[in-house]
Amino acid sequence: MATSSEFHVIVIGSGPAGCTAALYLSRANLKPLVLEGMQPGGQLTITTEVENYPGFPEGILGPKLMDLMRQQAERFGAVFRMEQVESVNFRQHPFTVVTDRQTYTVPAVIIGSGASAMQIGLPSEKALQGFGVSYCATCDGFFFKEKEIVVVGGGDSAMEEATFLTKFAKKVTVIHRREELRASKIMQDRAKNNPKIEFVFNTVVEEVLGSKDGGVTGLKIRNLQTGAVSEMKTQGLFVAIGHTPNTKPYAGQIEMDDKGYIIQPHKHSTVTNIQGVFACGDVVDHIYRQAITAAGSGCQAALDAERWLTHERITERWGLPAGEEERIDA
Ligand code: NAP
Repeated sequence: MATSSEFHVIVIGSGPAGCTAALYLSRANLKPLVLEGMQPGGQLTITTEVENYPGFPEGILGPKLMDLMRQQAERFGAVFRMEQVESVNFRQHPFTVVTDRQTYTVPAVIIGSGASAMQIGLPSEKALQGFGVSYCATCDGFFFKEKEIVVVGGGDSAMEEATFLTKFAKKVTVIHRREELRASKIMQDRAKNNPKIEFVFNTVVEEVLGSKDGGVTGLKIRNLQTGAVSEMKTQGLFVAIGHTPNTKPYAGQIEMDDKGYIIQPHKHSTVTNIQGVFACGDVVDHIYRQAITAAGSGCQAALDAERWLTHERITERWGLPAGEEERIDA
């Protein structure tokens, strides 16, 4: 397998965090390579209209927004490759990043590999993603004004999504697979006291009904106690059963919490417990999880990486431009 050491910083992930990091790095003349991973563009590529990303008063399609972010970084020299990270070695400097195509040695790494919303796992759910099936109420709730929708899940996320969705929807039904909710009492109470929210317990979704043209029209559901299968009408399905950070290749190499989110040990810094490895976006954030917050932290990671490379004089040793060049920053 070929080994390449032509890049100064490897950015893992091509969502808003990775693209913004690449933009800032390339404008600092630090040649970044973005390893795009399995889902180039990240989670926004499975949503349709994005109305809450500043600068697009008419809204913009998720895939289009990611295409523009990528083009903007490429304009300044960032290189994007559709490669999947298989393993890393952060124990030795320069670091090694092994993908499905080749091995890279590189002085600094920014991990922005995101998190994946957990899916129920139904073919019909996958087919209607962005056409009535959503994993983010903040992103898509607005499109369900005066509609009747379903939220699947019994944790804090499901309660939060259901409560948020009542701002738009006529009625929200929470479908949970058990009798007891997992959510904290305060979140449960808030949802249970909301007159627009109803609960269906001991029930799972077996099929999402509808089409790309007509959107979601209903669900086939099964009561786990009686085994009875029935159809219920709904115009939208929000799946809120948790997220998984995409951090498997780094397990045992950098500090993570018990859910696999990367820990940033220093306040006001995106550095991980390994000097020279930075993290941004949803791999560190299970609270906000927005494109704009991910983009902001991608910018921070790039600035941290740039400062670290300069401070450690790695820039000179690696043949990188020393210091800052004159430029106009926002
Ligand atoms: P979670 O606590 O892991 O809950 C996931 C829920 O989805 C559980 O009720 C689970 O059912 C259900 N579920 C899992 N897989 C399923 C499947 N295949 N089909 C149907 N249902 C399934 O995840 P979360 O709600 O995203 O919360 C994650 C963390 O973030 C928690 O620590 C939570 O407290 C925190 N959080 C906090 C806030 C807040 O405080 N504002 C908001 C959101 C999240 P079972 O109960 O049967 O396992």
